[in-house]
Amino acid sequence: MSMALIWWTILLTKNNTELLHAKTEIISGKNPNDTKALEEVIKYHERKANMILGEGLVFGFMLIIGLYLIQRLFNKEMEGIKSQKNFLLSITHELKSPIASVNLITETLQKRELDKPTQNTLFSNILSESRRLEKLINNLLFSTKLQSAYAYNFEDSDVSAIINDFIKKFQTLFPGINISKKVDSGIMAKIDREAFESVISNLLENAVKYGGENEEIEVELKENNGGITFTVKDKGPGIPKENRKKVFEQFYRQGNEEARKTKGTGLGLYIVKKIVEAHRGNIEILDNIPQGSIFSVFLPVSKN
Ligand code: ADP
Repeated sequence: MSMALIWWTILLTKNNTELLHAKTEIISGKNPNDTKALEEVIKYHERKANMILGEGLVFGFMLIIGLYLIQRLFNKEMEGIKSQKNFLLSITHELKSPIASVNLITETLQKRELDKPTQNTLFSNILSESRRLEKLINNLLFSTKLQSAYAYNFEDSDVSAIINDFIKKFQTLFPGINISKKVDSGIMAKIDREAFESVISNLLENAVKYGGENEEIEVELKENNGGITFTVKDKGPGIPKENRKKVFEQFYRQGNEEARKTKGTGLGLYIVKKIVEAHRGNIEILDNIPQGSIFSVFLPVSKN
């Protein structure tokens, strides 16, 4: 297209110059002293040359914009394909590996005489593998429900109690994790309990997964600016600024599936964002000090 544009400009310019020569020859042949007519012809030629240049520049500019938009679309499409490929790789692995582990551990327990502490370790391994599977299935089901018009059931709820209960449950599941909480009591809001619990669960599980098992996690809930703010802070590696939008996209996971150490599907934060938006709220990622991420969820509190 740029070649056609250049060719078109050259042809028009050539044509314009030939026309100028022809006209000047005619005028000089008829009346060589008619300088006014000659000036008119030259002015007309200049106007035409400017017009060709202007049109060329406009088309060139449009061409560049068009190419830029196509390139952007192409990159987005490629990222989508990459994410889907990663998702398929991870989901295959995520579904198969806990089942394989549970089978293997159960066979070991059946066939061998093991002492009590070893048996206990193996039982807790079975439990953690089946929980991993449960979380994956919950997220898959929830994201499917969200796509096919999930019917939210907003009810006046004691958010402080929901969070406190959840943390208690979470601490029995992960006894090694150190969760400190600053949850103001009696905070009420209209929320869908099942969906909100999925927000808490995904954010806490990510804090455990990416924050390192022995690191401290902080959970906060307070009322402010006509709403409630729920934050989960970890002391992991954090999320670079350029990825803070992308991590909320469906299937997006940082890095490459083959090289990645943590397990997951890229559904958790996508679900969290959808739920927060359905509550007319917003979620942002901030830097924790000295290191780590802060996931801050703001939900407006409606009084009706
Ligand atoms: P998953 O954990 O299954 O990969 P998520 O949607 O929950 O999916 O998270 C998307 C990506 O965001 C993760 O792959 C990870 O790279 C990044 N991420 C999420 N939470 C954290 C966190 N607390 N700290 C660092 N990175 C995180």
